[in-house]
Amino acid sequence: MAQTAAPTTGAPAITPISLKAIAPWAVFFGIVMLILLYFVGAEQGATSVISGAGVHEWVHDGRHLLGFPCH
Ligand SMILES: [Zn+2]
Repeated sequence: MAQTAAPTTGAPAITPISLKAIAPWAVFFGIVMLILLYFVGAEQGATSVISGAGVHEWVHDGRHLLGFPCH
């Protein structure tokens, strides 16, 4: 006997996510992105949080890739 499959509608059910549920995550990732942008774009010289050139050298290629002025 052949099995009968449940009828499919074709499209998966998409549950809407409210803006209130997304807002804390958007703020969190925004802050993380700003911190990354700081380390790639401004972590050197007088604005340096971590002394030495380690962070600068580590993100140096990304700095040039993104077009930040460097040297
Ligand atoms: Zn450079």
